[in-house]
Amino acid sequence: MKKQILVTGGTGYIGSHTVVELQEKGYEVVIVDDLSNSSIDVLDAIGKITGLRPAFEQFDLSDSIKTNTFFDKYTDIEAIIHFAAFKAVGESVGKPLNYYRNNLNSLMNLLDNMKRRNIINMVFSSSCTVYGQPDVLPVVENTPRKQAESPYGNTKSICEDILRDCCKAYPQINCIALRYFNPIGAHPSSLIGELPLGVPNNLVPFITQTAAGLRDELSIFGDNYNTPDGTAIRDYINVVDLAKAHVIAINRLLNKKRTSNYEYFNIGTGEGYSVLQLVKTFIAVTGVNLAYKIVERRAGDIEKIWADTSIANNELGWKAETSLGDTLLSAWNWEKKVRGLGN
Ligand code: UDP
Repeated sequence: MKKQILVTGGTGYIGSHTVVELQEKGYEVVIVDDLSNSSIDVLDAIGKITGLRPAFEQFDLSDSIKTNTFFDKYTDIEAIIHFAAFKAVGESVGKPLNYYRNNLNSLMNLLDNMKRRNIINMVFSSSCTVYGQPDVLPVVENTPRKQAESPYGNTKSICEDILRDCCKAYPQINCIALRYFNPIGAHPSSLIGELPLGVPNNLVPFITQTAAGLRDELSIFGDNYNTPDGTAIRDYINVVDLAKAHVIAINRLLNKKRTSNYEYFNIGTGEGYSVLQLVKTFIAVTGVNLAYKIVERRAGDIEKIWADTSIANNELGWKAETSLGDTLLSAWNWEKKVRGLGN
């Protein structure tokens, strides 16, 4: 029988790319998403890419009764990939209770059902925000975590603590937390990609929307950081490469290859790019000119971070494969498709 994987947040940006990779590897997927930040049309797009429209249930996982009812209905789930969460850093500062309630309760409701139903495997969507501004770069997995800058970041850190404690208390449960760096880009088909509601907070959607004429110019937040060109440095990871890391993590859990029942890995490229370097790469690969100006630093931003990925490379056998240029081109192709712009 096919192994059924529950993907929460499966119509979202990273979730949808992961569903595609799972289905292409023969996994049967059921998606749970409340569609608060994604569209039902993503199911058709996944169907077009893979030939299979995944099963779908719409509800909010922070509702324990609905979550329990779901698990009463779907009894063949062998593993969960948990993406569903609120993720806007700035919004979380103004609405901390919404963020804590949603992100923590949904994880705990899933864990309750894992215990109740004897579902033993989970891959959790964590973030490099758990490191704060590290003292030493690149960051390795055992770099001490720092107090998060935002309630959003704090929910990721607390969720990691919950998973670690649950794996200790319930040794039958196995979890892998993947700490993503900055996911960007879109599927090469241009059928799925990042589709932020309103004005984008993140750099690459803002760039592609500016290039498409939706925004006048990009604001670069600060050019007085202690970096070679003064703009902040991040590790930008291609979303399809990132999605593949989840499939590898699922295989690892199902094949019981882990070294401990709670593991966590950095998922990045291992290379840092500054905002200006990224902007210049975008202009070079797309041939589209991009208006930008330097403005004040954004509150809460760290100066620089990039990953040491040796543990993910060696333990998972996973490595980022796509160049920054190709990834930015995929983001641009997606934006053009969404806006109905020709090639
Ligand atoms: N950034 C920028 N202008 C924007 C959005 C982002 O200069 O309109 C910068 C931001 O200050 C950071 C980098 O781009 O240095 C990546 O920001 P993003 O919000 O994409 O991800 P974060 O690293 O904050 O999670």
